[in-house]
Amino acid sequence: MGQTVIPLADQRYLASVPHIPIKLIAPTGLLSDTLARPLRDLRISVTDRCNFRCSYCMPKEVFDKNYSFLPQTSLLSFEEITRTARLFVAHGVQKIRLTGGEPLLRKHIEVLIGMLSALRTPEGAPLDLTLTTNASVLAKKAQALKDAGLQRITVSLDALDDTIFRRMNDADFPVADVLKGIEAADKVGLGPIKVNMVVKRGTNDSEIVPMARHFKGSSVVLRFIEYMDVGATNGWRMNEVMPSAQVIERINEVFPLAAIGANSLGETAQRWRYRDGSGEVGVISSVTQAFCRDCNRARLSTEGKLFLCLFASQGHDLRALLRGEFSDEQISAAIAHIWQHRDDRYSELRSSGQADAGGGERRVEMHYIGG
Ligand code: SAM
Ligand code: SF4
Ligand code: SF4
Repeated sequence: MGQTVIPLADQRYLASVPHIPIKLIAPTGLLSDTLARPLRDLRISVTDRCNFRCSYCMPKEVFDKNYSFLPQTSLLSFEEITRTARLFVAHGVQKIRLTGGEPLLRKHIEVLIGMLSALRTPEGAPLDLTLTTNASVLAKKAQALKDAGLQRITVSLDALDDTIFRRMNDADFPVADVLKGIEAADKVGLGPIKVNMVVKRGTNDSEIVPMARHFKGSSVVLRFIEYMDVGATNGWRMNEVMPSAQVIERINEVFPLAAIGANSLGETAQRWRYRDGSGEVGVISSVTQAFCRDCNRARLSTEGKLFLCLFASQGHDLRALLRGEFSDEQISAAIAHIWQHRDDRYSELRSSGQADAGGGERRVEMHYIGG
């Protein structure tokens, strides 16, 4: 066994201090990047910690007791997150997703939700405010989240079979408790609930049909995600990716499906409905069918670094501005400048066999910027 390399907190990923343009760019809600993509979706990681050790995200061998997670002082405060979110909303963001690590492990997360739910778009509309969770404490927290103003929730669940699920979360966490969390969220009105299943060939592909059967006819929309080569620790191999086309084939053999159109531009899932009218499933084909063309997502890390792509190796250190003597106008102009120069399209380049987008640098980990 080789030695585990422990990255130093705060220096783990490269980040540059954003440039503030001399001529400040006022927000118009119409920002667009070099590929004419608007800025609509902001994902905020509220903690880099998690109580699961899913092998495709935080393998135990790396994220063990010696791993140094970010110290409390490094995390953006709720005020800093809300200030940043407000600036993004003025630039056109309509949807905010809280993620992590496990977002429900961040203390008083409902207070942050309350603060974010008060934000309004330039047209005066509320935001589409949602959260992705492993549901380990969802049953306990669902009501408080709803009361604070959370609209919807996405739950990650990779198997119904308890043995397979416990092996995948590597924390011996039972399926039954996740299902209780989903039920509680549904009861308090955090729907329509989405359930995401990452499919790893040879690990949980036997669970595709059982998962489809379980959620078919319920109010839950099940989505299958291709196992991605994010970060640098999960030992990703192409032969463990189960292409979405094969997932659809497997379900279609048992429950006939028909394709349906996308709900909105930039939607990551391709949608299929059951021909018998009992709901729909989605597939997210990040590996086999790149969707960079419409990618309108920005990601804010736990410590306030802005990433423009899930596969980026460099961020933009917004926290340096937030904790400096900079006005909202200056930070807002810096955000505009960053987005206007964005040209990321890693999945597309990967599909066409072109260069490693990270230029050989260490790519950011999923638990740090969120999914
Ligand atoms: N802990 C929460 C959870 O699991 O829902 C939120 C954070 S997690 C990083 C967000 C999503 O990323 C989850 O749905 C997870 O399954 C997905 N994810 C993590 N690593 C992945 C990988 N290598 N490929 C595909 N999806 C991945
Ligand atoms: Fe934790 Fe979510 Fe990553 Fe699993 S996917 S280790 S639950 S952050
Ligand atoms: Fe967006 Fe990057 Fe994913 Fe392409 S690879 S869809 S640019 S996050």
